[in-house]
Amino acid sequence: MARIGFVGLGNMGGPMARNLARAGHAVTGFDIVPEALARAAAAGVTPAGSAAEAARGAEFVLTMLPAGEQVRDAWLGTGGMAAASDPGAVLVDCSTIDVATAREVAAAVGRPMLDAPVSGGVMGAEAATLTFMVGGPADAFARAEPILRAMGRNVLHCGEAGAGQAAKTCNNMVLAATMIVTCEAFVLAEKLGLSHQALFDVMSRSSGQSWSLSTYCPVPGPVPASPANRDYRPGFAAALMAKDLGLAQEAARAAGVETPLGAQALALYRRFLEQGGAEADFSGIIRMLRGGG
Ligand code: NAD
Repeated sequence: MARIGFVGLGNMGGPMARNLARAGHAVTGFDIVPEALARAAAAGVTPAGSAAEAARGAEFVLTMLPAGEQVRDAWLGTGGMAAASDPGAVLVDCSTIDVATAREVAAAVGRPMLDAPVSGGVMGAEAATLTFMVGGPADAFARAEPILRAMGRNVLHCGEAGAGQAAKTCNNMVLAATMIVTCEAFVLAEKLGLSHQALFDVMSRSSGQSWSLSTYCPVPGPVPASPANRDYRPGFAAALMAKDLGLAQEAARAAGVETPLGAQALALYRRFLEQGGAEADFSGIIRMLRGGG
């Protein structure tokens, strides 16, 4: 059993903290939203009065916050978490943030720190089946791995500080582009008189196969659990995909790399958001690609 501080108890952090408590760890949590803190308390998390208080005395301190700005502020700014944490503690940021901020915060906290963004969404957080992509020192990873395993199925060490965020950003750029082109294929097939099921049967056994097709199939029918079967309720909201694509473009600009398909994917998701798609699953972009249908 470990003493764990957990800050950011929202859609993802709430169930993650709950799973740590269920696994027998002593979890102290904090969120600026009182309702989120109360929900976590009802699930076995000891509520703290501030982020610094949650960090104090813990062996592992985790954050699950919206973006880089909040992460920097919580650890190094007004949150004061780094200074309040035990010098021997392992700090773990599970938020999805830009690579540059992840590296900057890890270099400044003065403690071993891991960036450990996740995939698997809210369902994965609830079922403790997340995938963690982890950057940071190997010895800190070895210490934190059993803690992360209480919340996830796959825990992958990707390299030094920022490597977890780098892996996440590259993966989600591929995910967005494959989803868009899969949607385009279904729209083209409709115009060519080919049924959804026939295209699915061929592509899922051919080189057009992908996770976007086999798990999040953007038309109703072939994959009964995909969001297309429930009017594109998420799933993985288009707004979050646009955020992740923005981070990928930031990383590409900073690294001087051209990613034209990633850039185009971001432009298309931004257009989808402007047309009211923010809350829809990211596969709902097929409606825009059909021309508003
Ligand atoms: P969320 O908005 O539901 O939760 C974030 C929580 O952080 C909120 O409860 C908010 O009140 C709290 N918070 C903000 N600033 C704070 C501060 N200074 N101190 C304490 N608490 C603070 O968001 P979420 O869906 O849980 O996502 C969290 C992170 O996980 C994001 O970076 C997101 O991109 C990433 N992510 C989300 C999903 C998903 O499907 N929701 C999937 C993978 C990754």
